[in-house]
Amino acid sequence: MASELPESARVVIVGGGVIGCSVAYHLTKLGWSDIVLLERKQLTSGTTWHAAGLVGQLRQSINMTQLARYTAELYRGLEAETGQATGYRQCGSLSLATTPGRMEELERNASMAKVFGLTVKVVAPDEIRSLYPLANLEDVIGGIHIPSDGYANAVDVTQALAKGARSRGARIFQDLKVTAIHHDGRRVSGVQTDRGRIDADYVVLCGGMWTRDLAAGIGVTVPLHACEHYYVLFQDVPGLKADMPVLRDYDHCSYFKYDAGKLLVGAFEPHARPWGAEGIPEDFSFGEIAGDFSHFEPVLLDAMRRIPALEKAGIQKFFCGPESFTPDVRYHLGESAELEHCFVAAGLNSIGLQSAGGIGKVVAEWIRDGHPPVDLWEVDVRRNMPFQINRRYLRARVSESLGLLYATHWPFRQYETARGARKSALHDRLGLAGACFGEAYGWERANWYAPAGVPPRYEYSYGRQNWFEHSANEHRAVRTSVGLFDQSSFAKFRLEGADAARVLNRVCANEVAVAPGKLVYSQWLNDRGGIEADVTVTRLSETAYLIVTGAETEAKDFNWLRRHIDSGARCVLTNVTSGMGVLSVMGPRARELLQTLTPNDLSDAAFPFATSRVIELGFALVRASRITYVGELGWELYVPTEFMQGVYDELVSAGGRYGLVHAGYHALNSLRIEKAYRHWGHDITDEDTPLEAGLSFAVKWDKPGGFIGREALLEQKQSGCLKRLVQFKLKSPEPLLYHNEPIWQGGSIVGHIRSGMYAHTLGAAVGLGYVTAPNGAVVEAVGPDDYEIEVAGTRHPATASLRPMYDPKNERIKC
Ligand SMILES: Cc1cc2nc3c(=O)[nH]c(=O)nc-3n(C[C@H](O)[C@H](O)[C@H](O)COP(=O)(O)OP(=O)(O)OC[C@H]3O[C@@H](n4cnc5c(N)ncnc54)[C@H](O)[C@@H]3O)c2cc1C
Repeated sequence: MASELPESARVVIVGGGVIGCSVAYHLTKLGWSDIVLLERKQLTSGTTWHAAGLVGQLRQSINMTQLARYTAELYRGLEAETGQATGYRQCGSLSLATTPGRMEELERNASMAKVFGLTVKVVAPDEIRSLYPLANLEDVIGGIHIPSDGYANAVDVTQALAKGARSRGARIFQDLKVTAIHHDGRRVSGVQTDRGRIDADYVVLCGGMWTRDLAAGIGVTVPLHACEHYYVLFQDVPGLKADMPVLRDYDHCSYFKYDAGKLLVGAFEPHARPWGAEGIPEDFSFGEIAGDFSHFEPVLLDAMRRIPALEKAGIQKFFCGPESFTPDVRYHLGESAELEHCFVAAGLNSIGLQSAGGIGKVVAEWIRDGHPPVDLWEVDVRRNMPFQINRRYLRARVSESLGLLYATHWPFRQYETARGARKSALHDRLGLAGACFGEAYGWERANWYAPAGVPPRYEYSYGRQNWFEHSANEHRAVRTSVGLFDQSSFAKFRLEGADAARVLNRVCANEVAVAPGKLVYSQWLNDRGGIEADVTVTRLSETAYLIVTGAETEAKDFNWLRRHIDSGARCVLTNVTSGMGVLSVMGPRARELLQTLTPNDLSDAAFPFATSRVIELGFALVRASRITYVGELGWELYVPTEFMQGVYDELVSAGGRYGLVHAGYHALNSLRIEKAYRHWGHDITDEDTPLEAGLSFAVKWDKPGGFIGREALLEQKQSGCLKRLVQFKLKSPEPLLYHNEPIWQGGSIVGHIRSGMYAHTLGAAVGLGYVTAPNGAVVEAVGPDDYEIEVAGTRHPATASLRPMYDPKNERIKC
């Protein structure tokens, strides 16, 4: 280990677990040698030393699976490269299903794995028996087998990564705690340790369960909390063999792994026990927690039913150790929204060993290039809301997070804990109207409305869930009369000042130097032409704009714009999300209804599409914006929060005559997908350009001053797009699309579905997905009948279109 502390380093990594060592390893692989890693105690002494060692590859999404898959590949060759044993063994894995829902989940995942060529075999009980004779399969209906999965020794892997990093110049210091992080309010500049300061261009926080508090000290939001995590080692298990695959019994919350002549049985129980709420003891190192055997016992009893040989075996060790879990069971990665060059890789939710390789690689590339190498939004640290580091919220939520690793990943599944954090001013009224609320980034949002006598509760399945028809009725009402959506969770910012137009016009690909009262739909692009944000911009006055974006990107988009305000610019950016609610009145009768409530003229001539103005409504002055995300005539009403209830009451009491219905987010999603409106984070991300996404109509190529990403986009315009976003409608009305389903053209997979939903007007499931052409050629045309979409192993013919299948000429909007 290194001894003399340097005064500076290009990168300082905080934390010597498997994640920190992997980041150091991969940075040095890229040729960055001026790397310092600081560990408060000994390498692996936090959580890493007690990882059970599973290295699985199949995750719930394509990009996460690719990261895990790279990790397995890395571990396969790490010993040969570094000379340090890793204990990696490719024994394969078996996952069991005891219910039809679980079986469909596994089959859908096996289909998804085909997109990138990971071999996942769907297996029947007979095959499972031959692969794992120790298992009692009386309740098992099938499963999947992944031959290339395996396990490794987490301590040895970490040491191998550290050795590899050191051999290329990284310096590792142990028994050296980082006590503070230095910055100038905009960018990090170094760290303070108990033996002095180190200046640094970049700081990477890989401090495991310590990261939340370390980051909070510099205003960076990293919500995570430790939970107790259990396993038991059985010795003398009759029939146990070293080459047995890892066995996962999801439905009984357990996994089984051969471990040096013993059988390790681990648990992902539904209600976990948060740990360390009062702080982690200063001397915690290679620490164990006493745990509670009775908490673990129900899982253990089920495990003994699954592997009857355990009844004759002896317990050698009952183990409980802490691991950090996050509110959405996804880890935190990347450059923080709040501070430049402050990177985070933490909150690993018990998959740190199997993710470390991929994480180290993408974080290193992100640091080198200044942007993520692939779309990583689902784990991007910028998705977090500041309130999420509230410890009471975290304690409540992580007790659920741990079990979700093994729970069935039902479509539309809602969290059951830490609910009610953020509520619209109408929350209670919507509840009385039958709302079944879902949660998004703390917001309670009406997903669908239960008619009188129907409980507003989800009954989950992969098929049509209990709300399907109720939501269909909401959808139809929006198409035929008028619907009311509460979209208060929209994030809203004001940019004001003499330079607001100049600053915003450089960030927006569309022209926003428009007359006051105009509303513009625009993307914000990065230098590569990729879409960083999808917003509407309203010019309020010569010097003021209102910017509206999705709830999930509130922190990311606010900070993206903040960072692009040059130091001399005379403008101020303010987040006004909490100050305004949003009521969307959408449908062919929206004008008739609203006109009864306001003296302002709402006719098309007086109030055309894509304009916005303040109108009188009830006792309030509200900003009405003529825009739509559902493909119908309508207005979004931006209402000061304290006027929301009054405005809502007016709308509802007048609405009966016009067939007004309350409509929820499931209907919204169904309506927008049949109109092929894109959703940022799914259909458009930082690796998709407006040309590929079919959004070139929102690009103003020749506006004065240009815009960020213009040059990259111009290049693509000349060379052509290698992928195109296509709308697909299944020819059969039966199957349902969610996301990640492979798109077939002839005998090849040419893409996958980014988002899918049932489209009630079109009468079938619709999905949006990018297609590529064979041999990496430019995609010129899309044959309407050339494609099939695979759902749970079966290919279904689909109609394809580059133009929206619903109202392609926008006749219903501009009327
Ligand atoms: C019982 C159990 C079983 C598991 N099984 C598996 C498995 O089979 N497969 C799998 O993939 N994952 C598994 N995991 C999860 C895995 O162990 C973790 O996800 C992973 O080890 C996390 O690594 P890390 O580097 O983020 O955190 P850690 O290993 O905790 O490393 C963080 C390091 O940062 C140091 N640090 C913190 N603050 C400072 C500071 N201020 N200054 C300097 N240093 C600091 C700490 O001392 C610590 O060493 C398991 C976890 C548990 C508890």
